[in-house]
Amino acid sequence: MERQVVECRTSFDACPLCGSRLVKKYNCNPRKIVTLEGEIYVLERVLMCSNPECAARDWSFHSEELQAMAFWRRIYGVDVIARIADLKHRERKTHDEILEYLHSRGINISKGNITYVLNFVEAVARGWHEENIEVIRSKIKERGGYTLGVDGTHSYLGYPLYIFRDTLSGAVLYARAAASESTDDLKPFFEKVLEMFGEPLAVVSDMQPSILEVVKELLPGVKHQFCQYHFLRNVGKELMGQDYKKLSRIMRREGVKTKVRTQIRGEKKKKKGKSSQT
Ligand SMILES: [Zn+2]
Repeated sequence: MERQVVECRTSFDACPLCGSRLVKKYNCNPRKIVTLEGEIYVLERVLMCSNPECAARDWSFHSEELQAMAFWRRIYGVDVIARIADLKHRERKTHDEILEYLHSRGINISKGNITYVLNFVEAVARGWHEENIEVIRSKIKERGGYTLGVDGTHSYLGYPLYIFRDTLSGAVLYARAAASESTDDLKPFFEKVLEMFGEPLAVVSDMQPSILEVVKELLPGVKHQFCQYHFLRNVGKELMGQDYKKLSRIMRREGVKTKVRTQIRGEKKKKKGKSSQT
């Protein structure tokens, strides 16, 4: 199969600390991610602040979109992980049935891996690893701050799953499924994150209205950067492009065009015959 490489970078165009331009720090090696739509290879361009005097000079700005799509160092996209949880807990499928479903979508995963994924997503949905809070907190303190990424694009067992990250390290700060996408359901999650890790330097999220509202209320004056979804749009294009190529190859091989033309001609003849009868 042809390897599709998609590029991605942070949504920030300026340093959230000093406002200077962000420049290239390094490129990551293309990383494979398995999604429900297919496999993609993602090349992440990591940026840094261009101001040598800035306290954020050593920081790395990663793609928030990539972080929202797949957990750090994990090959399966969040969509695959959430689907596995759904099959298991909502549709009550056995592990063999889950395997069969995934294989039918071209996803080769072992039975042992399914158990692992399920344990992982349950830990995420329960509110994440409380035992890591101290470690993450001291790292943030040492660095001098964090930027908060909020992602509410996935659902877990039918409920919106909110994942909060320190986008500078990629660490998940908190994650929980909410009863709804309303401001009232989301606000306590934000309060919990602020209580655990303090006020972020900036927030990055999509344009979800409840996130906008809660940030405005709880973090007035804090910069709110919107995720551009450039990369995801490109992913769609790349994957669709591949499907389209495959489809047109099959159509050519099967002589679909000729068959369709013959069919149309036949239909027209039938119509003519009918209208001459009446
Ligand atoms: Zn800076």
